[in-house]
This record gives sequence, structure tokens and C-alpha cells, in this order.
Amino acid sequence: MNYQTQDPKLWQAISQEQDRQQHNIELIASENIVSQAVRAAQGSVLTNKYSEGYPSKRYYGGNEFIDVVENLAIERAKELFHAEYANVQPHSGSQANQATYAAFLKPGDTILGMGLDSGGHLTHGAKVNFSGKLYESYSYGLNPETELLDYDMIRDLALKVKPKMIVAGASAYSRIIDWQAFRDIADEVGAYFMVDMAHIAGLVATGLHPSPVGIADVVTTTTHKTLRGPRGGLILSQEKYAKQINSAVFPGTQGGPLEHVIAGKATTFLEDLQPEFKDYAAQIIKNAQAMAAVFNEAEKVRVVSGGTDNHLMTLDVSQTDLNGKQTQELLDSVMITTNKEAIPNEKLSPFKTSGIRLGTPAITTRGFKEADAKQVAQLIVTAIEHHDDEAVLEQVRQGVRALTDAHPIDDYVAPVKFD
Ligand code: PLP
Repeated sequence: MNYQTQDPKLWQAISQEQDRQQHNIELIASENIVSQAVRAAQGSVLTNKYSEGYPSKRYYGGNEFIDVVENLAIERAKELFHAEYANVQPHSGSQANQATYAAFLKPGDTILGMGLDSGGHLTHGAKVNFSGKLYESYSYGLNPETELLDYDMIRDLALKVKPKMIVAGASAYSRIIDWQAFRDIADEVGAYFMVDMAHIAGLVATGLHPSPVGIADVVTTTTHKTLRGPRGGLILSQEKYAKQINSAVFPGTQGGPLEHVIAGKATTFLEDLQPEFKDYAAQIIKNAQAMAAVFNEAEKVRVVSGGTDNHLMTLDVSQTDLNGKQTQELLDSVMITTNKEAIPNEKLSPFKTSGIRLGTPAITTRGFKEADAKQVAQLIVTAIEHHDDEAVLEQVRQGVRALTDAHPIDDYVAPVKFD
């Protein structure tokens, strides 16, 4: 008996999810498709081991091979981002941020981050999150005219609230972020400067977005978005902060590290160091820009800020008959996966919103090029314009099917060749 027949209910759901991933066009900007090598590392016997502590300083015995794995992940992360120090243990992006705050701040200290409704992340000070409960949090938004970060506005706010830490980085911002402008503000007000580059880390690793490493005091990221690795977190910083960050991760906020996931991170960083990964990252941006161009031609939708420099965009649907939630549901019904997203000057509640967020990392991994990306955008426009015409929606589904059949996920086994 194998595990599939022992537990058919569970494995049926896993198999259905595999099928969904094959047949849907995945445009969630924070998702990707990992290689078989990453999956194998995560499914390895490393999951059996407790390794509290750090390489050569573990609390339990038997960690000689685990130390090799974690050191590989650390060294590769440092090489990939030209960083002095890396901690590969955070279980997630949120835990990387939690540990970073714990390393630099005391409860009650003031933080200034991008507002959730403007494209920031929950952990940048949202009141429903630990970051908004434990710390005195303030948020900056976008310039309502330009829909861009406005460094003068951020400076004014920083001068007013005098944060101990300024947080830059976003979950939905499609333009290049000027790290030095944030650094200058942080220096002026005497704040630490933290960057959460979770979304764009793959673009930073390949030089396609300026790197915050060396400008910020500390940089956090997830490993599962544009980096295309296992779900997890990573903290990069300078050697002088190593001790305080290490102890904030363990024992400060976590127990035993997930060494099987750390093995997946080591695999990912090696993949990301290959020249092919730079081609992939460049294609992500080309695909996003190809989609944005189609939307900009359409009558009733528009791309927030007019376009994209990275892997994502927010599509404003406020001039259509649908809100963001309805658009997300409509697209779900034609096998295109997106999420609702607030637009600048949002008039609707966060449960409805007037936009959807679209990202190209996953479709690019499965081989979509600009022509395919344009077709995807066209299918989205058609579905929105004809949302109550079932015959047209059926044609959209067929278009999706043709694209997903042409780019099987199973073909993506080991996309990067090693010498
Ligand atoms: N930081 C940013 C900018 C994110 O967009 C996200 C997740 O979407 C996170 C942190 C949190 O990552 P995780 O879901 O691994 O906790």
C-alpha cells in the first residue's frame, strides 16, 4: 500500500490542487512554482531533525550534516545579495520581520511603514497585526496624484512622528523604490532603516531592481516569491548586527529551525546564482509590461501609476460594472487566479476594493513569453467587458485552456542547468 491509497482523501485534494495549478493561469503576484530540486530538498529526511541554535553551536547532538546544509544556505544567500550577514532560519516573511523588530526595537517604540491600503504588508504596522499592536505604528501612503511614493510626504511624516525604525518595501507597488531617499530620511530623523524586499527579491538578486543591501541597516525577504524558492524568510544585514539578529530569531521568536526548508533555500539560492535566472527575472518584467500595455489600450480599465517596472501591477476596475472582489470572482470562474486590491484613493471597503493585483512570476516560470502575456491580458479585458455573457466567458475559458496546455507545469522540472 502506498501513501496515496492509505490516505485517499488527503491525496485526492493534493492531486486536485496539482490539476488546478496546471489548468489555471496563476497571476497572484506573490506566488511561483518551485523546481523539483527544491521540492525534493523540502521532502527530505532533514525534516526529522531538531537543530536549535546555529551551525557549530547547536543545543542537540547529531547536527554535523545539518550544519553543512545551513552553512551552504547562508553562504549562498550572502553571495547572491552581496551581504555581510544572512540568517536563513525565519519560518516566513512575517517571522523575519517580527525577529527584525525584536532585534532593533522595544515594545512601544515607533515604526513608520507603508500602509496596508496603499500596498504595504500587514507586518509593516497594520493595527490588526502584532506590528501595529506591539509598536506605535504610523503609515505613509502614495501621492494621490502620481500614485507613486512621495519622499517629501514621507519625510514630513517622519519628522512629525520621529520613528525609531522606517520600513520600506511593499506587497503591491509596481515602481522602482528609491532606497537612498529612505536612507536619507532615516538619517535625518535618527531612525533605523529596514527594507522588506519580499516581492522583488528575485529582481534585486539579478540586478533588475536596485539593491537595498548596503543602504538599509537590515533587509528581510520571503524566499517563495520572485526568488522562486520554498515558503520561508531570510534576513540580511551587516556583521555588526549579527549577534542581535541571531538571538532575536532564536531563541527570541522561534524554536527549532526547519532545516528541510533551509535545504530548499540553499537549493534556490544556487539556482538563483545561475545566469539563466537572470533571463527568467528579465522575462518576468517583460511579461508584466506586455500585459500593462494591453490594459492601457483598453477602454475601462487602467494600470495604477500608468505601468510597471517590476513583476506586478494593480488594475483599476472602478470604471467597469464590477468591483475588485467581483472581478476576482469573475476571473476565478474563467480559471484566471488573481486577488482583489485597493487602488489609491480607494472608495470601497477592503472586502470589495476597486482593483485587482496581477503578477507574472508564476506564468513566466512555466514559459509564458510576451505574446502569451498579452493574450492573458486580452482574456482578462474580454471577461470583464462581457462578464454577463456566458458564451464569451466560455471562449475565454478555451483561451485559458489553450495557453495552459501549451505550457505544462510538469515540463518545469529542472529549469536551471548546473555545470
Ligand atoms: N513582506 C511582504 C512585502 C509580503 O508581501 C509578504 C507576503 O505576502 C510578507 C512579508 C509575509 O510573508 P509570509 O506570508 O511568508 O509571512
